[in-house]
Amino acid sequence: MEQHEARPVPIIDAGRCTGCRLCVLVCPTAALMIRGGIAAVADAQACTYTGHCERICPQQAISRPFQIMFIHREGNSVKAIFYPTWQERAVFSAGGPQPQILAENEKLKLIIGSLEVGQKIPTHPEALAVYHFLQGTGWMIVDDERYPVSPGATVITPEGAKRGVEAETRLVFLATRIA
Ligand code: SF4
Repeated sequence: MEQHEARPVPIIDAGRCTGCRLCVLVCPTAALMIRGGIAAVADAQACTYTGHCERICPQQAISRPFQIMFIHREGNSVKAIFYPTWQERAVFSAGGPQPQILAENEKLKLIIGSLEVGQKIPTHPEALAVYHFLQGTGWMIVDDERYPVSPGATVITPEGAKRGVEAETRLVFLATRIA
């Protein structure tokens, strides 16, 4: 079962905005408008997080909330992928964990793992990795040692160590495997 929450939209500081319209003109998806003399979000679902509005605003009146940002190089340019909420990317399945890839290059792979109550990822050897728990409670097993985990916990596992995850309650975590 997929889980979706309301998508965050650009935050506009009414105290800074002068209503110059630059952000409205530059937005490629018509997500912004001028209302009452200041910028406002016209269509929250239209926002694709291009960042044009934030960059063009002379008053620094616009910011975009996000929870995960993957900044990477493509040739000579730097690109950014925004994930406004991890909830949009967490996929729960009664059939077992279905990890979703959020970022990948030759040096790392970032996935979001989602486990229903009682589900497990069996221990398996893996590369150096960082696990960060976002929701739920459970256990991280590393080379037969069991460590309790809850939201905010970060676990770093050494290269080659066998690791697994068990969910006591609905559990979501980020795992970054580093080559
Ligand atoms: S660019 Fe900045 S100052 Fe101009 S309308 Fe947009 S938010 Fe307001």
